[in-house]
Amino acid sequence: MEKIDQVLSGCRSVAILGHVHPDGDCVGSCLGLYNYIQKRYPAMETDIYLEPFQKEFAFLKGADQVHYGFETEKVYELCIVCDASDRKRLGGGAEILDRAGRTISIDHHKTNTGFAGLTLMQADISSTCELLYELMEEDQVDREIAACLYTGMIHDTGVFKYQSATARTMEIAGKLMATGIPFTDIIDRTFYQKNYRQSKAMGQALLNSSLYAQGKLICSVLTAKELAGFQATSMDMEGIVEQLRLVEDVEVSAFLYEMEPETFKASMRSREYVDVSEIAAAFGGGGHARAAGCTLHGSREEVMCRLLNRLEKECLRDGTK
Ligand code: AMP
Ligand code: MN
Ligand code: MN
Repeated sequence: MEKIDQVLSGCRSVAILGHVHPDGDCVGSCLGLYNYIQKRYPAMETDIYLEPFQKEFAFLKGADQVHYGFETEKVYELCIVCDASDRKRLGGGAEILDRAGRTISIDHHKTNTGFAGLTLMQADISSTCELLYELMEEDQVDREIAACLYTGMIHDTGVFKYQSATARTMEIAGKLMATGIPFTDIIDRTFYQKNYRQSKAMGQALLNSSLYAQGKLICSVLTAKELAGFQATSMDMEGIVEQLRLVEDVEVSAFLYEMEPETFKASMRSREYVDVSEIAAAFGGGGHARAAGCTLHGSREEVMCRLLNRLEKECLRDGTK
C-alpha cells in the first residue's frame, strides 16, 4: 500500500472530506491528515470540508479551520476522503470529489465500493485513524496529530474493547500516548461525557426498547417528536446503540431515530455471530461486521417491520456454526 507521502508528493492543492454525520474516527482522521499535511507541506493549499460535528472535538488542532458545509467552486488537484465507504456517504462533498484531478479513499469499511481512483483500504483494521498512522512517517506524528488519531481510535474501538482492537492497535496507541497527549481527558470528554440532551434521549431510548428473537435482539426507536422534546439532534445519538447491546444475552441491538418525517437512520451492533454489515448493505447502507448502519424510508411501523424481519432471522440462526 502507498504511504501518504507518496500520494502527496508534488501536489499543490488538496481537499479533505469525511462522511455525513462525522463521528470520532471521521473527525480524527480528517484533522490528523490535515495537521500532517500542514506540518510536512506548508505550501500545499489544504482545505477540509465536513458537516458540523459534536463540539467535544473542537479542542483538536485544526478544528477551527474546518469549512462546515460544501459551498465552494474550487477545483483541487487531489481529494482525499477519510472513513467513508461510498460516494453517497459524502453528502454535499461528492461535488468536490467529482471535480478533483485525483481521488483517494482512506478507509477501513469492508463495504467500500471503490468509488475513488485509489483506495487505501484495510478492512480488518480498527479505525481509519489506525490505518492513517500506518501510512504516515512515524517520526512526523507529533502531539497534535497524535491527539487526532487517538480520538478516532478510541471512538471506533469503544476505548479499545471491541474485537477490532489488536495488539498492533495497542502498540500504536502507546506510541501516540508517548507524545504527551492528554489521553484521560480525551476519553472522558469525547467518549463518556454526555450532555443533558444526550442523557434524556438515552433514557427514552432505553424505555422504548423491546426484545425480540427470544431475547437475542433488542430494538428501540426515537421519533422526531421525542427528539424535539429533548431538543436533541442526530449529533446526540452517539452511544445509544452500544448501550442497548449491553443487555444480557442480546446478540444484536438496533437503534433507529427519525431524521426527517418518514426517514429513519438505523444503527446496528452485534456481539458474536451476526454480520450486521450484510444486513445494512441489503438496505443500501454499510459498515463493519459488528457495527453498521443504513437509512430507511417509511412509517415507523413499516421500517421496523422490514428491519426486524431480517434481524430476527439472523439472530435465531445457530451462532456456533
Ligand atoms: P453508526 O451506526 O452510524 O455509528 O455506524 C456504524 C458503522 O456503519 C460506521 O462505520 C459507519 O461508517 C457505517 N455506516 C453507518 N451508516 C451507513 C450508511 N448509511 N451507509 C454506509 N455505511 C454506514
Ligand atoms: Mn465513521
Ligand atoms: Mn471508522
